[in-house]
Amino acid sequence: MGAARTALVIGGGVAGPVAAMALQQAGVQATVYEAYPNSADDVGAFLTLQVNGIAALRAIGADHALDGIGFATTSMRFRSGTGRYLGEVGIGEPLADGTVGITLRRADLYRALRDEALRRGVTIEYGKRLVDATGSASGVVAEFADGTTATADVLVGADGVRSRVRTLIDPGAPRARYVPLLNTGGYAPAHTAGLEPGTYEMIFGKKAFFGYAVAPDGTVWWFANPPRPAEPTAGELAAVTTDQWRTMLHELFAGDNTPARTIIDSTPGELAGWATYDMPPIPNWHGNRMVLVGDAAHATSPSSGQGASMAIEGAVELARCVRDHDDPAAAFEAYVRLRRERVERVVAAGARTSNQKTVGPVGRVLRDALMPIFLRRAAGKGSGSVAWLHRYEIDWDAPVAA
Ligand SMILES: Cc1cc2nc3c(=O)[nH]c(=O)nc-3n(C[C@H](O)[C@H](O)[C@H](O)COP(=O)(O)OP(=O)(O)OC[C@H]3O[C@@H](n4cnc5c(N)ncnc54)[C@H](O)[C@@H]3O)c2cc1C
Repeated sequence: MGAARTALVIGGGVAGPVAAMALQQAGVQATVYEAYPNSADDVGAFLTLQVNGIAALRAIGADHALDGIGFATTSMRFRSGTGRYLGEVGIGEPLADGTVGITLRRADLYRALRDEALRRGVTIEYGKRLVDATGSASGVVAEFADGTTATADVLVGADGVRSRVRTLIDPGAPRARYVPLLNTGGYAPAHTAGLEPGTYEMIFGKKAFFGYAVAPDGTVWWFANPPRPAEPTAGELAAVTTDQWRTMLHELFAGDNTPARTIIDSTPGELAGWATYDMPPIPNWHGNRMVLVGDAAHATSPSSGQGASMAIEGAVELARCVRDHDDPAAAFEAYVRLRRERVERVVAAGARTSNQKTVGPVGRVLRDALMPIFLRRAAGKGSGSVAWLHRYEIDWDAPVAA
């Protein structure tokens, strides 16, 4: 087998465009294939890109794509549903030049990465849903739902939590795991929450979790996590009307001494919701000249706030490995060695945080009593510190160890 010179990248979300840019920088010509007609529209949610994700983009000179979108967010302040202050944790030390994490609309992140990839000459083909792929000694052939095919030396599965590539690599691969929480949220006009921009207020309410941050223009960006023990179907979720979401949230937050209901009531427009998933550890990240990156390999519950950052880190690391190993299988193995331990730790941490959001009345008392200790440790430097999460620097020029 020779060194990979061409790649098919399946998925035009976060990991896909970044993988294509990084591969291009590594001397590999990469084309992105996205199932939907346009990956950046109708996403509706917002997320936090933490300093490690921004640093990974910087490793390939692409962090400027984020200029002018989102707003700086540096810490999370936790409260119980009674309004009691539980503690505060930073969202990573600033990078050397003072850059901090940002909160941005998911659609804006998709669009920024897509535009930067296009500016660099990466081809992105839309309306191309991968249905099958076959790897051989000479390369990989991908088949799309529209009947077309494409060939290259390797295929990168950046196709998200319901990855088709994952099952093509290993038909027995674990499936996404339902985390018994729903996600909904929106944007409320400026109100008098007394919160300075840059801080998330995170509330472990009696019945549900509520979080919000204030943008510099005063808009309140909020989300809520209604518990939902049984996994809803996509149809069931889509059938929930905005009025039903509002009623549900009103009931869930009725017993809390927080601004949740005021913020929700003042939010104009439609509300929508998503179910929460993460990935159990996957035995095989690669096989038959195909490899997984981003959520396809290691989706984490949104509670970790790290899914997009991990997708970016992994995409850049994958390209370094392909650059430095002539044999694609050896490159993919080096990539797994670099990434597996870190991402599985993130997924586990996200699952623990999600569990804290769904405890019953007894667990709640215990949680609220122990949370200040846990948060002090998380913010500190000793055991329990979360500094490892945000400190991950990629030296693009450094060779990847054999
Ligand atoms: C409610 C919510 C809140 C979140 N909050 C945060 C947060 O605060 N911080 C954070 O870092 N992350 C957060 N995340 C997670 C983050 O959005 C994901 O981790 C990130 O988008 C993963 O990027 P990805 O490229 O791997 O997958 P995706 O962004 O899902 O992209 C996958 C792409 O592949 C395409 N695709 C799928 N199948 C095929 C196919 N067969 N053929 C071709 N294309 C295909 C899809 O259409 C999609 O465009 C959140 C997620 C949710 C749902």
